[in-house]
Amino acid sequence: MHKKTIRDIEIKGKRVLVRVDFNVPLDPETNAISDDSRIRAVLPTIRYLVEKGSKVILCSHLGRPKGRVVEELRLAPVAKRLSELLGLPVASAGDCIGPEVEEAVSRLNEGDALLLENLRFHAEEEKNNLEFAEALSRLADVYVNDAFGAAHRAHASTAGIAQYLPAVAGFLMEKEVDFLSKALTEPAHPFAAITGGAKVSDKLGLLENIMGKVDSLLIGGGMCCTFLKAQGYSVGQSRVEEDKLDFARKLMDKAASAGVKLILPSDVIVAESFASGVPCKTVSVSEIPENYYVMDIGPSTVDEFATEIRKCKTVMWNGPMGVFEYKEFRNGTEAIARELAKLEATTILGGGSTAEAVEELGLADRMSHVSTGGGASLEFLEGKILPGVEVLQDK
Ligand code: ADP
Ligand code: MG
Repeated sequence: MHKKTIRDIEIKGKRVLVRVDFNVPLDPETNAISDDSRIRAVLPTIRYLVEKGSKVILCSHLGRPKGRVVEELRLAPVAKRLSELLGLPVASAGDCIGPEVEEAVSRLNEGDALLLENLRFHAEEEKNNLEFAEALSRLADVYVNDAFGAAHRAHASTAGIAQYLPAVAGFLMEKEVDFLSKALTEPAHPFAAITGGAKVSDKLGLLENIMGKVDSLLIGGGMCCTFLKAQGYSVGQSRVEEDKLDFARKLMDKAASAGVKLILPSDVIVAESFASGVPCKTVSVSEIPENYYVMDIGPSTVDEFATEIRKCKTVMWNGPMGVFEYKEFRNGTEAIARELAKLEATTILGGGSTAEAVEELGLADRMSHVSTGGGASLEFLEGKILPGVEVLQDK
């Protein structure tokens, strides 16, 4: 990465403000943290700072409180979980700016950690308000961004703050940027991208940007219906994005003229309604019944996709192959995940649902990199410059 990291600056004894992404999923009934992978992902940075004798001040958003204090979105439970994972006490503050927080910071010793309250309790955070950024900056000597998942947003704690403090990357930010930029700029070939998920319209920029870089492009998920329709197939009751048919045709033309192998499903699993526990069957894409929904890729498609990715040295995957939330339609996503887990290749996964699916399967550790930033990884792979990365000091 061409940006400075915490390895490149003096941090001993310094007050270090670390922007992390502790926007963890909460159980709707108990409000307990249902998945702590975002907390675990920044442990290397926090441990390093603690060991080097920094005074560690952590800040994050959680949910969408929209500028008000929302009791259920306080960060104290996150501080507790972080403390368990670190094996060290982590204090929590009642706010993220102001005299009381400054007082709490002044009491920190080297190696201590303090978690500030939810940044989005202040509306100024999302507005990238510079007075708010300046108030945050008063707490620290150095700013570290390790919140890759929030780096596509220009907020006070991800962008404005860098006007007031020397700003560098943490280890998670470094790893995310390194893996994703390597895939875009110098991937080992053959390079395949697998895309899926709900809609073509969510992934236009991604499809366009990677088209010029991959050797093969495999399309599954709900989005394949628009491509199948563009090829003249009927896709039953499945949603077709009519206004994206032209995009799909042009992308297929581009693939043909660039020598990119674009592979669409040859068979799919269809169901009588968009639900679990309803009659379903496997059919060829030329025989999708009028009253059925496409729910997953079929077994022949799984074989075709697997054969293709087995040849690859780099595989990027963004978007589930089917409606994996329902167990009958999980097979395509699971089979692709298992295939990737076996590969001796660089495997890079982006997208919130894709990450969730491989976490559930217990296969996340078998991938080279599972991005912690859904929206951020998508924008990065679209070729956009993320404001939270841009503001960091160059090496
Ligand atoms: P990611 O978060 O990994 O980028 P998306 O947000 O694009 O993925 O899409 C995830 C959603 O796509 C899932 O909720 C999944 O149910 C849905 N999906 C996958 N296949 C289909 C399909 N055939 N029809 C409708 N929705 C689908
Ligand atoms: Mg998503």
